[in-house]
Amino acid sequence: MPVYEYECGTCGGRFEVLQKFSDPEVSVCKLCNASPVTKLLSPTAFVLKGSGWYATDYPSEKRKKAMESEKPAAEPATSTAGCSAGTCGSDSCPSKS
Ligand SMILES: [Zn+2]
Repeated sequence: MPVYEYECGTCGGRFEVLQKFSDPEVSVCKLCNASPVTKLLSPTAFVLKGSGWYATDYPSEKRKKAMESEKPAAEPATSTAGCSAGTCGSDSCPSKS
């Protein structure tokens, strides 16, 4: 769940709100209860506790490389990208298409 940062137009204070993507935007300052407040761009942090969705549903190139580097170096067929004979046994192997 991302943490959004808001800046108050009245007191100038900044505060963070933990929100789901579906939650409505905060319109009242947490510090002085005035409005309007401005939502600052881009979440400042993700709360990763108890969640692995970011790794399993949205694999990044960086993450993939990290996973590959964790494998033993002695296996030559771990990379499906370079496989041309189906030896990797992967359903996503380009040679099976
Ligand atoms: Zn305020």
